[in-house]
Amino acid sequence: MLMEVTCRCGWTTRGSRSEVITRVREHGRSQHQQEITPAQIRAIWRVVEGSGAKR
Ligand SMILES: [Zn+2]
Repeated sequence: MLMEVTCRCGWTTRGSRSEVITRVREHGRSQHQQEITPAQIRAIWRVVEGSGAKR
């Protein structure tokens, strides 16, 4: 299952849960000088329906 997060600046990332958490935290530090907690990320991410993936 893929998760997707769109930042308030328009930056978007998607990936597995752990990938998204890592990338969003790096983005927050480098682009916004802000420390983002995993709980905050879990509050805003959304599930991406796999493109082309069969259920
Ligand atoms: Zn941003």
